[in-house]
Amino acid sequence: MSAVPLRNSKAAVSAARAVSVLGATGSIGDSTMDLLRGAPERYQVEALTANSNVAALAKLAKEFNARFVAIADPDLLKDLQDALSGTGTECGAGESAIIEAAARPADWVMAAVSGAAGLKPALAAVDRGATVALANKECLVCAGDFFMQRAILTGARILPADSEHNALFQALGSGNREELVRVIITASGGPFRTWDSAEIEQATLAQALKHPNWSMGQKITIDSASMMNKGLEVIEASHLFGLTPDEIDVLVHPQSIVHGMVEFSDRSVVAQLGAPDMRIPIAHCLGWPDRIVGPSARLDLAKIGQLTFEAPDFDRFPALKLAYDALRTGHGATTVFNAANEVAVAAFIAGKIRFGAIARLVEATMNAWVRSGNLAPLSSADDAIAVDHNARNKAATLLPQIAAKAS
Ligand code: NAD
Ligand code: MG
Repeated sequence: MSAVPLRNSKAAVSAARAVSVLGATGSIGDSTMDLLRGAPERYQVEALTANSNVAALAKLAKEFNARFVAIADPDLLKDLQDALSGTGTECGAGESAIIEAAARPADWVMAAVSGAAGLKPALAAVDRGATVALANKECLVCAGDFFMQRAILTGARILPADSEHNALFQALGSGNREELVRVIITASGGPFRTWDSAEIEQATLAQALKHPNWSMGQKITIDSASMMNKGLEVIEASHLFGLTPDEIDVLVHPQSIVHGMVEFSDRSVVAQLGAPDMRIPIAHCLGWPDRIVGPSARLDLAKIGQLTFEAPDFDRFPALKLAYDALRTGHGATTVFNAANEVAVAAFIAGKIRFGAIARLVEATMNAWVRSGNLAPLSSADDAIAVDHNARNKAATLLPQIAAKAS
């Protein structure tokens, strides 16, 4: 049984659908709001959330006449209330308010908080059996088994919003589980695709933030440069579709036009293509099980001319290998992988470690975790959050020695 509904079954869509967007002020949030803006009569915005940007959240709340808005920073409640006074929009602040936003009755919820901070809110939407468009891949990397089991239990539908997984979601319907040989997710290769290891080691924040194809939030952009993002996505694919690590391959495809492919037993390979525009997979999730008219540019392959593919280089991009290792290890290892990466990326942004040290800190944290005999199945969100918390502390402890060490 799967919480990802692989075969389309046409369902009647009500006139105005109640929707909520968690992480409404971010890059995915922005793309989602843009799609809602395209057909305001079809959607009633129930709840919107943000971390700390009161002005942006209040502006969206007014534009979409949201019923409830929540800001994660508890000190900003008064500012939010002031910004929305006289509008009738209810306001909340703190983690509990973000969870409340997810728990409110919207039948479609976009989960687009960045990082493991989005786990509890996404679970609150899953717990009431909502349709959850999942962009926040860290939920699955942090607590995938538990998250997907909970969705099956509650009848929540998980629609993959990440472009590669959305591509697989679209392609997988062409065959059955027994006919599936493997899935392939593509990676642009990021800004350092052609750089040697010594250059990657010394890459600056500005260089890491220059993604060749996609415009995204800061953390995922850095994850794309290290290929940590593709590692997170391998783990994400495994949970979404119930795949073993050996059934998931990564292919570097610098043009980012083919997002994902599925190989079946008859050797047919079914792919999904589209411009590198997140509004395309999000529109698929928003329209599902139908398709809506999207605002994105149509794909002009004649103009693009060439689609090229390369094998990933696990030596120059060790993050990808670490992700497979974590997935094979299981028992919380992917939770540690994700937590250590969040600490490492924050340290890189703060100028405390070199770019090359991101993967080294993740590896050191994972090794320390395995050595200390801490591996155990995670049976609840609290288990996952505890491992996440302890792994962050472990990564923070290891950080000075990793920072001091040359590659
Ligand atoms: P972003 O940083 O642009 O936005 C994150 C959103 O979450 C913002 O609204 C922010 O206010 C909110 N937020 C951040 N920390 C929070 C916290 N502690 N509590 C509550 N809210 C918080 O990030 P993004 O690029 O939009 O990515 C969001 C998620 O989607 C990530 O998991 C990312 O991996 C995934 N994703 C993004 C893209 C993309 O193109 N940007 C593509 C695929 C998947
Ligand atoms: Mg992706």
